[in-house]
Amino acid sequence: MSLETNAPPAPAPSDFIRELVTQHVAEKRYPKIHTRFPPEPNGYLHIGHAKSICLNFGIAHEFGGVCNLRMDDTNPTKEDIEYVESITTDVNWLIAGWADRCLGLTAAQLPFYASDYFDQLYDYAVALIRQGKAFVCDLSPADMETYRGAPDRPGKDSPFRNRTVEESLDLFTRMKNGEFPDGTRTLRAKIDMSSSNIWLRDPILYRIRHAEHHQTGAKWCLYPMYDFAHCLSDYIEGITHSICTLEFEVHRPLYDWILQNLALPRPLPHQYEFARLSLGYTVMSKRKLMQLVEEKLVTGWDDPRLPTISGLRRRGVTAEALRNFAYHIGITKYNGITDVAVLEHAVREDLNKRALRRLAVLKPIKLVITNFPEDQTEELDAVNNPEDEQAGKRKLPFSRELYIERDDFQEVPPPKFFRLKPGGEVRLKYAYIIKCDEVVKDANGHVIELRCTADLDSKTGGATAGRKVKGTIHWVSVAHAVDVEVRLYDRLFTVAEPDAEGDFKAHLNPHSLEIVTAKCEPSLNDAKPEARYQFERIGYFTLDKDARLSTNNPQLIFNRTITLKDTWAKVVQK
Ligand code: ATP
Ligand code: MG
Repeated sequence: MSLETNAPPAPAPSDFIRELVTQHVAEKRYPKIHTRFPPEPNGYLHIGHAKSICLNFGIAHEFGGVCNLRMDDTNPTKEDIEYVESITTDVNWLIAGWADRCLGLTAAQLPFYASDYFDQLYDYAVALIRQGKAFVCDLSPADMETYRGAPDRPGKDSPFRNRTVEESLDLFTRMKNGEFPDGTRTLRAKIDMSSSNIWLRDPILYRIRHAEHHQTGAKWCLYPMYDFAHCLSDYIEGITHSICTLEFEVHRPLYDWILQNLALPRPLPHQYEFARLSLGYTVMSKRKLMQLVEEKLVTGWDDPRLPTISGLRRRGVTAEALRNFAYHIGITKYNGITDVAVLEHAVREDLNKRALRRLAVLKPIKLVITNFPEDQTEELDAVNNPEDEQAGKRKLPFSRELYIERDDFQEVPPPKFFRLKPGGEVRLKYAYIIKCDEVVKDANGHVIELRCTADLDSKTGGATAGRKVKGTIHWVSVAHAVDVEVRLYDRLFTVAEPDAEGDFKAHLNPHSLEIVTAKCEPSLNDAKPEARYQFERIGYFTLDKDARLSTNNPQLIFNRTITLKDTWAKVVQK
């Protein structure tokens, strides 16, 4: 893909972070703007991460800078190589086309790992101990909690706070060498136990964890805490703007303290915070997504109902739509819930431009055109995409027996029902105006067939082509129909804020997935995984990754990405 098609929409958005960066560029404060996106590989990325990725890579892109993808991998017991791989795939997919300009690296060098700096970080810790700014503490986790105090009550100094530099150095070395079990000792910064900011009350910098790490194996049994590793990883990589979500604002004094108390020669990075994305009708925390996956309430991290990047991709949302969404919502300092309609708008706008129009009937009923010859097939011309002339045309087979949507016929229609009814007329998309003459029922009184006559002059170019009827419906020729599995997704939760009250899982929508066997026009036999389709009057669809995977399962499977904006009624009245 070319850079051109993937460039962020112009003009680039403006917000308080970009204003600051603009100012820093004007002041020539840094030789180059350098941002980073630092996920912890303890789960799959979600659409909230997409906001952060688009902000960090977007800024690098707009200001001719560089953005690093860095695994913040300091907590080996919660992390896994599976997550490292999925994160790398998702980021590359989302920023495809920006990468060559803002990564400044080849794909093979990606990603960066905080664990690559463990040796350096250890040396920095030793430097703090030598200056008397860090000490080894023997308090148990429970005692540590008591000593810490509360937001409205100062903490108490650890009895180990004043042990000598030599003793701390010796113990720290022995911690590294594996002489002590987990939880028995920590390395703590010596700051201020009475600080109003709890994060400055002698925070832990290192803890003992006898655990294998997905990158460093068994080399370490001592791991740095997030706050210690993060600011120093930023420094080591030459990050200028370390952008994170608002909950890290209270960590910023510690971020600055660590950097300022080490003798670091190069300019220091600075942290800036923005409001995280929360979306209605879903959950976003990795912990909750993990529960849904582990308890098999969804089919996996890439279940198309999840707000994960891999789920959205599988559902058919394009990277461009996600980026447009991220650009639209803006960057602020106020937390709030973004209406899913904003995401849905971005997705529809994108798919409307690129989707190939096709006819498919999801819930069929048979219709016979009694005045159309039995053995005749007519090849109709149908436009692939009215929004894109280059998409061309295709042939659509028409014959005497058709499927239409069961819902497009009502025997006893409500007022203003402009679709098919006994004695009523309707236009078949791309074809004739038909009139319903007879309704055939089975022994139980269920409608099983509609018998109609067509005005055979009413097709494009015919004598009565201009004749107006109120409704147009879609159809598929019975003899040519292809059976496909269609997965219809709905919101995963029934309430806008599933985690506002009680157990979020109590609000799962039992109807979030409906599977039907649809009848489709035959051109869908050639459906391509990367293509997007609009099943006319129904919605946007894409092939699922499981479709046609093996010869055992040759079936086509489509995921509904999203319904059309207009309701049935509005479309029909047009
Ligand atoms: P979660 O809270 O969903 O479990 P996390 O914050 O623990 O996610 P990280 O892997 O630490 O996930 O996040 C990597 C980066 O993405 C961080 O800089 C974080 O601020 C940002 N980020 C995480 N969630 C969101 C969100 N909902 N909106 C915007 N940015 C986010
Ligand atoms: Mg986190």
